[in-house]
Order: sequence, then C-alpha cells, then structure tokens
Amino acid sequence: MTRAQGHSILVVEDEPSIASFVSMYLEKAGFVVRKADTGAGAIEQADAEAPSLVILDLMLPDLDGIDVCRRIRQRSDVPILMLTARDDDIDKIIGLEVGADDYLTKPFNPGELVARVKSVLRRANPERRELQSASLQHGELKIDAGRREVTVAGEEVQLAPKEFDLLWELLDHRGLVLTRDQLLERVWGYTFAGDTRTVDVHVRQLRRKLGDASPIVTVWGVGYKVSVEPKVAQAS
Ligand code: CA
Repeated sequence: MTRAQGHSILVVEDEPSIASFVSMYLEKAGFVVRKADTGAGAIEQADAEAPSLVILDLMLPDLDGIDVCRRIRQRSDVPILMLTARDDDIDKIIGLEVGADDYLTKPFNPGELVARVKSVLRRANPERRELQSASLQHGELKIDAGRREVTVAGEEVQLAPKEFDLLWELLDHRGLVLTRDQLLERVWGYTFAGDTRTVDVHVRQLRRKLGDASPIVTVWGVGYKVSVEPKVAQAS
C-alpha cells in the first residue's frame, strides 16, 4: 500500500502555474488534489472537504496565509505545509502562534514537496509513535509522552508538536550527539538531506521557551545533544 492512497490534498495557491505544477506532481504520486486560489476559499474548503493535508501559500490575494493557517487551526488538526518566499517568518510559522506543521521555501523542487507531504502525513498518523517510557526527567524539566506535556519545576510549558518531538528525541538519546540530518530523519521523517535550518529554528524555540531549564547543548559543526546529567544549579 502506498502512503498516498486515500489521501486528499488541498492546494491553496493563487498563482495558476504553481498550483497546476504542484497538483500534477501530487496526482502523479497518487494523491487526490483539490485547489483553492483564495484564503476565504481555503477556509471554506478545509471545513467542507476535510482534506488529509493542506498546502498553503503564504501570499494570497485576499487574506494573509498566516491568518488562513490560524483560522484552519482553530477548527481542525489537519496537517498544514506552508509555502513561503520569506525566510524570516519561519520561526513564527512553525511555532505555536501559527501552527503550521512544516514549510518549504520557494522555489522548491517538486520531488521534495511530495516527500515532505508524505512525511508530514506519516507523522500525523498516531500509530507511528509508540513510546517505550511514559515520561523523561532531566533536572527540573519533565516530559510526559502520553499527555504530551512538558513542565519546568511543575509549571507547564506550551510546545509546538515538532518542538515536543525534538526535545523528546534528544532527551531519549542523552549523552549522544545527534547530527542535524539524524534529527531531521528521526523527528521529521526525512530520508534525504533536507533543510537542516528547520532543526536550528526548533532548537532556538525550545531554548527560548525552556529558558535555563533547556538541556540542549550545541556541538559545533556536528549537531546537538543533551548531557547525561543535568547541570547543577549554582548556589547564589
Ligand atoms: Ca501566492
């Protein structure tokens, strides 16, 4: 069985040439494709047609793609892959504020788009995640996998889904250095050399949200790791 079977993709893009080019590749990969060329149309179709995934362009004629993403998110957990031409919005787009699952920067390779769509769908499939241990602790940081809850000294910290998965992956392999490519493969499901900037963006978000409780150490030129033992708090 191919991953594509039974999955419908809503492509939201106002540039007809890109929309038809993307649709052609997705259909060739076995997906059923629907199209919308405005933000309002996208929100309506996401509601009415319940697609398996939405590919959403950031620049639309009526609404900002970010607003469209937020509004779809308010009603559904459908995976959303953003198409962007503006690199600087990435932190926001994949963070909790907007809630996209992944992004691709234009211009992109259609083969990569199809690979990303498949990997986002695979991640969205709950059977993929079978966690051995229910929770992990590192100093004041505690992660409950079943409830997907992160706390620092008992206070809950809100993480986006991929931030959670990345933190879990690093903690689950504490003491080991994981390269950006390894993290892309384990957390995002990419089996090719992808855009490793995605990893850096998520690490930055985790550090910002966890503050001093962040256990993530940068190993220059290699990747990231979490030490086996949490660093001891300095007595002041
Ligand atoms: Ca556009």
